[in-house]
Amino acid sequence: MTEGSISNGNSNGHDNGSASQADPRIVDLIKSANGEMFTSLEYFPPRTEAGVENLYNRMDRMKENLSPLFTDVTWGAGGSTADLSMRLSLRARETGHVANLHLTCTNMEKDGDPIKGVHDALRAAHDGGIRNIVALRGDPPHGQDEWKASEGGFTCALDLVKYITKHYGKSFGIAVAGYPEGHPNAISEVESLNDLSESEKKRCSNFDGKLYVCKDEDYKKEMDYLKEKIDAGSDLIMTQMFFDVEIFIQFVKDCRAFGITCPIIPGLMCINAYPGFKKMAQFCKTRVPKALEETMESLKDDAAAVKSFGVEYGAEVCQALIDFGVDGLHFYTLNLEKVVYGITDKLGITNGLIEKSNENDASSMVAVGSAWARVGDIVKCTYGTGMVTEIRTDGVTVVEMTKWVLAYGQKPRAYLQSGQFKKLFV
Ligand SMILES: Cc1cc2nc3c(=O)[nH]c(=O)nc-3n(C[C@H](O)[C@H](O)[C@H](O)COP(=O)(O)OP(=O)(O)OC[C@H]3O[C@@H](n4cnc5c(N)ncnc54)[C@H](O)[C@@H]3O)c2cc1C
Repeated sequence: MTEGSISNGNSNGHDNGSASQADPRIVDLIKSANGEMFTSLEYFPPRTEAGVENLYNRMDRMKENLSPLFTDVTWGAGGSTADLSMRLSLRARETGHVANLHLTCTNMEKDGDPIKGVHDALRAAHDGGIRNIVALRGDPPHGQDEWKASEGGFTCALDLVKYITKHYGKSFGIAVAGYPEGHPNAISEVESLNDLSESEKKRCSNFDGKLYVCKDEDYKKEMDYLKEKIDAGSDLIMTQMFFDVEIFIQFVKDCRAFGITCPIIPGLMCINAYPGFKKMAQFCKTRVPKALEETMESLKDDAAAVKSFGVEYGAEVCQALIDFGVDGLHFYTLNLEKVVYGITDKLGITNGLIEKSNENDASSMVAVGSAWARVGDIVKCTYGTGMVTEIRTDGVTVVEMTKWVLAYGQKPRAYLQSGQFKKLFV
């Protein structure tokens, strides 16, 4: 690390290697950083033990190289990684990270109690010295379009925030999700740009010739609800990914106008590969600026060029955020390091780290319960069931069929577009 304005590991308040001392709360760390900017990193639980081992090594390396202020571990979609997320977070703590454990309300019933899973997870986290939780509702379990609360369970992240505050007071620092473009549920298709207000025009996204936007009245509801989450005891907002910095800046201004005063940390999705970029943008209905879209389309068949561009673009976005005055930069690493290092090198935070990056283990970084299919996933389509063996740069997913339901389709594989299959969590 060069002499930069980014805080180093010693300032994260954690006695490296000591598991006995509980973590500090992130909001307190940010306060004591006194405006010194930080980086933080997010990882997801890999599907295999080999992937987990590789991730341990990556987390150790990235901690050594970047001294993140805190380290997030996601909670697999539908609660699919509860035990592993906890294990990774506890191990992160043992190795000197300040762990920020994500926790969702989806599928948390246990022994007939709709919230026992949440109760147990919070207890285990607390007993293990974890003091930071990202309180989330979660996405609907697989096969369900709408999120439905189980009877007597939490209905939204606000309920979870209230529960944590009620049972743990200020013992946990609580972060909640913020959506600069509106949550996807609050984004709807619109006919024409002419129908939109000036602020809607700046927020709208365009996929396959269709326009989507969180209308002003829905955006206001999102803001009111976000304020409720903060007022209920959260002390930090971490944002959904965005590719248009102006949208983040407007979101921060809007939060302030709505009386939300806590730190707002920008979530930065690293552009590592074209298919992931495309799928994630579509899944979250993220606005993709025209120039970004054109460049990504022109590079989509060249994986190395996409990564290099990911560095260029990421650094541009981060510089604009630094100029705006963010407290820190939170990287969704996707369990990889090259693009993150490239960005911090370009920003002058680190020097020559990208040369040292090693992503030979990339194929083991496959998520459990990711929102979209990856190689190795079992998926179901109208023809039957099979396993994803390849995802091509144009988004075509190759599925090796194991069980056909349509007699005329007795071919070994199917070539599907996203939307033509559903992932099975088995
Ligand atoms: C930083 C970040 C980290 C994430 N990490 C994970 C993860 O680890 N695992 C995972 O599975 N998913 C994760 N997600 C995705 C998240 O679970 C989904 O986006 C989910 O659909 C919503 O979760 P939430 O906590 O934002 O929900 P909520 O805060 O409950 O909000 C969901 C939607 O419902 C509306 N809403 C809910 N309750 C009310 C109410 N009472 N009044 C008005 N409106 C209401 C909100 O305005 C919003 O539109 C993450 C998202 C972000 C931004």
